[in-house]
Amino acid sequence: MSVLDLARPEIRALQPYSSARMEASGGQVLLNANESAWAPPGDHELGCHRYPDPQPAPLIDALARLYGVRTSQVLVGRGSDEAIDLLVRAFCRAGQDAIAIQPPTFGMYAVSAHIQGAGVITVPLAADFSLDVDAVLAALTPAVKLVFVCTPNNPTGQLVRLQDVARLAQALVGRALLVVDEAYIEFSDAPSAAPLIDQFDHLAVLRTLSKAWALAGARIGTLLANEQVVALLRRVMAPYPLPRPCVALALEALTEGGQDAARAHIALVREQRARMARALAEVPGVRQVLPSQANFLAVRFDDASAVYQRLLAAGIVVRDIQRYPQLGDALRITVGLPEENDRVLDVLQNRLQDARALAAGQRP
Ligand SMILES: *Cc1c(COP(=O)(O)O)cnc(C)c1O
Repeated sequence: MSVLDLARPEIRALQPYSSARMEASGGQVLLNANESAWAPPGDHELGCHRYPDPQPAPLIDALARLYGVRTSQVLVGRGSDEAIDLLVRAFCRAGQDAIAIQPPTFGMYAVSAHIQGAGVITVPLAADFSLDVDAVLAALTPAVKLVFVCTPNNPTGQLVRLQDVARLAQALVGRALLVVDEAYIEFSDAPSAAPLIDQFDHLAVLRTLSKAWALAGARIGTLLANEQVVALLRRVMAPYPLPRPCVALALEALTEGGQDAARAHIALVREQRARMARALAEVPGVRQVLPSQANFLAVRFDDASAVYQRLLAAGIVVRDIQRYPQLGDALRITVGLPEENDRVLDVLQNRLQDARALAAGQRP
């Protein structure tokens, strides 16, 4: 059985759009795509009057090297959000198929499924927020085409062990595609599931430059999967998903110098994460700081809403995650600059008499 047997038959049969850039490359006089002959103001040699390469080879090469896979196993899109959406659209028939998720987890999986008209099977994480592989398998129905696993998980910060990912992959052969979302894995000690792609052609791994690589604003996310899955998703994807300025920024980030900068920032985030976890645990009103392998901390409070408001009054915006199951008393706090983290602690430890003074940037 091919993994493509799990996909929507109409997508497999689809005659995809063929863009000018796909049909011909090379040549010096480009009169095939109805582009302007003139570069726009502020172009800085980017060539933005021309449509971009749908999947620019230098970027694909750099990402394949970075993630340790073959170039044919790489699909780059507008953030991993786009990859999630493409997977749901390519594999789930409206009104018939479904995805499986383990709440509390990243909201986009369910949103993409709802937009597509696909069902959502939920298998809650255990009380310690670990993944219960047997519970996931027991809940599967034939309608489930995609199983999403987020590691480290957003918003809890916990890892799913690679051996659990492998066991899940093994059990899903011929049944569903396993999607492992590793948006935060650079901040963890854990190995990526990417090497398992060669073993399991129904495994997709999502990576992004949005978090550890400081490029949330450029929208560059990568799906790693076997080439059949990559080719299938390209049929569904917009013809020119990657704006030239964004590709240029991504290539810059992936140079040696860019990689050094990213590594330094990751080290700083990890150091600050440990410091914040220790300090927050000592703050009166904090019930628990969940152990995190990501660039954020989920923190339980006696009165999370009051803390949220107090931080907001001091000009600090954190994420209220009280609507998530099992996190009815929690806020998610991203690890910021050391001085930003200081401000959070100042407010929570009531070291400030006047919140407005803090908002104005003055220290007590
Ligand atoms: C931030 C995030 C993403 C989305 O990343 P983009 O590449 O910016 O679309 C994907 N998954 C999880 C779990 C995230 O937290």
